[in-house]
Amino acid sequence: MAKKKLNLQNISKKGEHWDDTFRLMSWWDADKVANAKVMVVGAGALGNEVLKNLALMNVGNIFIVDFDTIEYANLCRSVLFREKDIKRDKFKSLIAAERIKEMNPNINVQAVNGDIMIDVGLGVFDRMDVIIGCLDNRIARLFINRYAYKTGKVWIDGAILNMSGQLNVYKNEVSCYECALTDTDWANIRTKLGCADVAQRNSSAGRVPTTPISSSIIAAMQVQEALKIIHNYEDKSMMGEQFTYDGMNNWIVNFASPPLKDECESHYALQKDEIIRMKNLTHEDTVEDAIKKIKKQLKAEQISISLNYKIITEVTSMSTDKSHKVLIPEPHFSEVAQAEYQEEIGEVLGITKYVDYISEDFEDGKVSLKACGVPPLQILTVETEKDIFFVECTKDEPYLTF
Ligand SMILES: [Zn+2]
Repeated sequence: MAKKKLNLQNISKKGEHWDDTFRLMSWWDADKVANAKVMVVGAGALGNEVLKNLALMNVGNIFIVDFDTIEYANLCRSVLFREKDIKRDKFKSLIAAERIKEMNPNINVQAVNGDIMIDVGLGVFDRMDVIIGCLDNRIARLFINRYAYKTGKVWIDGAILNMSGQLNVYKNEVSCYECALTDTDWANIRTKLGCADVAQRNSSAGRVPTTPISSSIIAAMQVQEALKIIHNYEDKSMMGEQFTYDGMNNWIVNFASPPLKDECESHYALQKDEIIRMKNLTHEDTVEDAIKKIKKQLKAEQISISLNYKIITEVTSMSTDKSHKVLIPEPHFSEVAQAEYQEEIGEVLGITKYVDYISEDFEDGKVSLKACGVPPLQILTVETEKDIFFVECTKDEPYLTF
């Protein structure tokens, strides 16, 4: 691998490197770490500790995703948040980014205030070296698992409860989050999947009772595993094992990961040469223009862009039967529709029409893919009369700031 030019910012006035101490370790590769791209999903208790460690270890490019704001209850477990952040009504992702950049100005940090299930394009996953999950719910984990599998990325999942914790390193064909789900887990996921509201869908049954000790233990191990992946020491990692820690009874056990199932829906990996990177396609294109460009690229007569969510095109009041034509990606339904179309408090609006694909007969060709819920750098699944293709909105590349 070509060595990257030495980052001058990385040297103090006295000529010291940020990571001089780490360079004393024989396995440390300063360039690999400084060039690494890591996505951290969730900036809560675990996320705070993971981000702190990544910044201290000089991991050069960090992409943070979270949609929550900071509350008082978060402060006792979040090294990066302060009481004043609550008053500022700021988002966890943005404040966490600001604070780790303050700790280590040499690193690049990009924060997205959004939902991992709809706001991050598959192309962003594809450009990462490793993904770290710091979540408290199964449904978001399931989505990360599917996206990571599709793009062939290792993802490191952490979980904490009380004085205990768990860690899993998932890699295609070795271990898989979805394969390990039980029937009870699925029942729980299905209930929440039916819920249109983002916050509701992602919420746990209640506040998770845990401590900053558990999160710092598990998060530290997550970052240690990430560093092994960045250094290509996969054989030293915990892949294929379920690391379990019980702080009250002082035991640590590595169980073997459950075997992979043949019928698992996560098991679809895109081949690198399967992704058609369209440099002239962006999620800001209108539906009309995007269809025109993709048809030309694929030399197809007809195309249909599949979506993994619904676009609601009509809502109707349950009390007055009055219908409204709308265009709302279902994941944004409650925030947008309820507020805009409710004529009286407590009025219930039902979804009466929707589509789950975009084609030439789409309601309004003048709206953008973005308005239809397509995030930047998305890899679209496109069906033509010939085959299924995977088309990336590569013109969105500048969206990723590193
Ligand atoms: Zn699986």
